[in-house]
Amino acid sequence: MQNPRLVAFDLDDTLAPSKSPIDPRMAALLVRLLDVAEVCVISGGQFAQFTMQVVDNLADVDESALARLHLMPTCGTQYYRHSAGEWQQVYAENLTDDQKWRALAAVEAIARELGYWESETWGPILEDRGSQITFSALGQAAPVAAKTQWDTDGAKKTALRESVQALLPDLEVRSGGSTSVDITRRGIDKAYGMNRLAELTGIPLDEMLFVGDRLDENGNDYPVKALGVDCVAVENWNDTAAFLDELIPTLAIVRP
Ligand SMILES: [Mg+2]
Repeated sequence: MQNPRLVAFDLDDTLAPSKSPIDPRMAALLVRLLDVAEVCVISGGQFAQFTMQVVDNLADVDESALARLHLMPTCGTQYYRHSAGEWQQVYAENLTDDQKWRALAAVEAIARELGYWESETWGPILEDRGSQITFSALGQAAPVAAKTQWDTDGAKKTALRESVQALLPDLEVRSGGSTSVDITRRGIDKAYGMNRLAELTGIPLDEMLFVGDRLDENGNDYPVKALGVDCVAVENWNDTAAFLDELIPTLAIVRP
């Protein structure tokens, strides 16, 4: 696409290694991009993850630039904007207590049945993120090296996702990061988030660009592609940085 008004990014394995802070090179690129476009980060992680991985690492970013940064944690089921010096929640699509209980029970039962319920983990396997239940096979704080080893071909996440989805027909089950499966209300995924973003910013979807590492059919970025948004597929943050090195100068010409 020529000159997108808004560039949206997945977080884990697109802007940074899973659950890790962005590299200073990526931080500098995002600050430059905020000068010439609106920027959105939409990911399965919680808001605190966004601040730790992205926002806290943006050096020399002023209020007007932060006002152009759109944060959509937990697959766009929450939306935050920066105004009056702080991050403010615009909306949150929370699960009901009954939906949470059924999601937690189903994912644990299937993980145990398939032999994926690990006994040695880094923190809890299950997490209630309000609008999303997240299963992380090795725990929330597992090191990247251990996580990349756990499911190298993605077969475990796919098997888990399919079996849990069959038990929860009224909810949405998606594979998230390298070891994670996310459960949200049905119809609420990154495509939902992008639609809400278009509605709330007034920027049409055909003037947006999305960058993600899981645009394959089983990936949590796929709904954005299926929605018809122009997408750029990357394998890691280095690919994203290389893409931004080319995109930012072209946007700077049309929006000096
Ligand atoms: Mg990702």
